[in-house]
Amino acid sequence: MKYIGAHVSASGGVENAVLRAVEINANAFALFTKNQRQWKVPALKQENIKKFRELCEKHHFSAEQILPHDSYLINLGHPTAEGLEKSREAFIDEMQRCNQLGLKLLNFHPGSHLKQIDEQACLKRIAESINIAIDTVPNVIAVIENTAGQGSNLGWRFEHLAEIIANVENKERVGVCLDTCHTFSAGYDISSLEACENTFTQFEQIVGFNYLRGMHLNGSKTPLGSHVDRHDCLQAGTIGTAVFSYIMNDSRFDNIPMILETINPEIWQDEIFWLRSLEKR
Ligand SMILES: [Zn+2]
Ligand SMILES: [Zn+2]
Repeated sequence: MKYIGAHVSASGGVENAVLRAVEINANAFALFTKNQRQWKVPALKQENIKKFRELCEKHHFSAEQILPHDSYLINLGHPTAEGLEKSREAFIDEMQRCNQLGLKLLNFHPGSHLKQIDEQACLKRIAESINIAIDTVPNVIAVIENTAGQGSNLGWRFEHLAEIIANVENKERVGVCLDTCHTFSAGYDISSLEACENTFTQFEQIVGFNYLRGMHLNGSKTPLGSHVDRHDCLQAGTIGTAVFSYIMNDSRFDNIPMILETINPEIWQDEIFWLRSLEKR
């Protein structure tokens, strides 16, 4: 089964995200469980948690179909002790919110060295941050998203993801999310079926599909290897559409949330419909 949805707004209460996913005929969705641009926000209210869980059940969304995303402020590889502490605390709070909502996945961008520590040291910090969070909060899997490699962001090479996973003690609580825009911007060609075969074979060899817990389906506004993260609609931009046919017809992408973060929410419903039309099975 292919689970397809979009990163919908949770404004007015987390439960509204479920209804917004229903409106666009999605069978998956992503959301922020708190304001993503603030460090501290009030705890989730029991009433919102209850409504969220009820609506998920009513509309048949299981935890496997929902991919919450953490705050953009968090940097789990922060070079300073103070910055790292603040990020780890906020990440644990994000994980707790997911657990309260009955969710099993938490998607995050791995982190940045800010040119103050080397890559290796930063990757170690990220893994240690994950270890601390999964020791503190039960159930939720830390899902590392690959990045475009903009600035000093790590996680753009498959080797970075593998290195982080290697240093996570409990492998059952770590996974990855591949973003098509980031993959392409990072320099992995996915612009033809043949290129997809090559790129995803590399992913299988370096990371392994057993760790794939989600996808972000996006077009890109920038060329291959640009290291610039600018999303586009699926049928626009520089990647072309081969990768979406590839994904829709490959069972290695079954049963994981595949989330649109494309730039025009008005056409999300059409994009989901279009993706489903690519399925040949
Ligand atoms: Zn993404
Ligand atoms: Zn992005």
